[in-house]
Amino acid sequence: MITHRTILNITVSLLFLFCGLVSFGQEAVIEATIHKGIQQQTDKIFDDLVQIRRDFHMNPEVSEQEKRTAHKIKEYLLSIGLEVKTNIGGNGVVGILKGAKEGKKIAWRADIDAMPSEIPDVVDFKSKKEGVRHICGHDVHATIALGIANVLASQKDQLEGTVYFIFQPSEENYKGAKAMIEDGLFDIINPDEIYGAHIAPLPATMISTKPEWLFADYKMIEVVYKNSADNDAVLEYTKTLLKSFQNVAAGSEFFDPQSLLSPAIGLANPNTIFKDYITVYDNFNIKKTDDLISIKTYVGSSIFNELAKILPQVKQKIQSSKYSEKLINVSYSGDRANLMNNKKLTNEAMNSISAVYGQQNVIRLYGEMPDGRGDDFAYFQERVPGVYFFLGGSNFEKGIISMPHAPNFAIDENCIKTGVNYFASMIAERLDQ
Ligand SMILES: [Zn+2]
Ligand SMILES: [Zn+2]
Repeated sequence: MITHRTILNITVSLLFLFCGLVSFGQEAVIEATIHKGIQQQTDKIFDDLVQIRRDFHMNPEVSEQEKRTAHKIKEYLLSIGLEVKTNIGGNGVVGILKGAKEGKKIAWRADIDAMPSEIPDVVDFKSKKEGVRHICGHDVHATIALGIANVLASQKDQLEGTVYFIFQPSEENYKGAKAMIEDGLFDIINPDEIYGAHIAPLPATMISTKPEWLFADYKMIEVVYKNSADNDAVLEYTKTLLKSFQNVAAGSEFFDPQSLLSPAIGLANPNTIFKDYITVYDNFNIKKTDDLISIKTYVGSSIFNELAKILPQVKQKIQSSKYSEKLINVSYSGDRANLMNNKKLTNEAMNSISAVYGQQNVIRLYGEMPDGRGDDFAYFQERVPGVYFFLGGSNFEKGIISMPHAPNFAIDENCIKTGVNYFASMIAERLDQ
């Protein structure tokens, strides 16, 4: 997961403590026996999963170097009887679980890479590799996917359809999903739906998500002029012009991180203020050469396709200003896919998980996070309808706060149980529909 302003979300943890819970219609679920079977098997393998997670944690590998991790994953999948494909888009691994009968095809994706980090780890089972750490929870993601594969394999006779487990390398550099797709992932597997989850700072019994975007879209806008004696005036004009696209007041509650967790206006309230917004970052980056002067900043919006409309407007305004002669170019860079949850699948998946595990554990979000974060799972969602969840990893009583990339990032390992149970049950339900 990539972050421009992690600090903004450092207190999001509390959001999930105070946010209002929303009721879901309970829909009919397949016979409870399969969920019971899933839960019993999860309990049975839980200690093993914790050991696997700690092994990954002690042997972290950065993007594009996940060789050992991929090998361990392959061995485990083979040991529980799955068909396995390796070296897809680098160190990508796919496990294929076929149910007793033909049916739907569902994919579950986990990212597996660690990050360069010099920050001392807070657990006893520290990284054995200097300067590398699982500080984004991908060790847990990989473990949960192995756990789901195990418990669903234990229920194979009751499954109609196929489950694919995608172990994706290189999420931190946003390259792995694209690389797997370009290397023919969807020639090897052809899922009807795809799902995945990321550790988030809510309690370790909870998940949350929402239909469509979870995060605002962000692009870097750059305006380039001829270098001239008017530079100062040109830059001032451009800053004011760019800032005029922001539709939230500077210094307002929108920019107070506490607002994200407010029951009245935060992300989990249907009347959240984190909807329909456009923001323009204040920290402009200015570069001068002999001939040119360029000014850059991030523009973000929670409104679908809004950023595409802003660019021509900026250009047109400059062209009709007194600086039109000096303008060379207006452009965006840093284009990348943004997570986009399929509406119908999100609602159905949330309903089925809350029917089995309790609606108090399934939190629906309404607003889009005003941050530059994302996940390259978005590239899979461009090809296959799917849902991305946040999975709680925190335990506030124990002081464990699972804020990805934060120096004190830690995980309550009970979230492994939550993830395996909830998502294995969800996949079983999806196969049945
Ligand atoms: Zn990350
Ligand atoms: Zn991550």
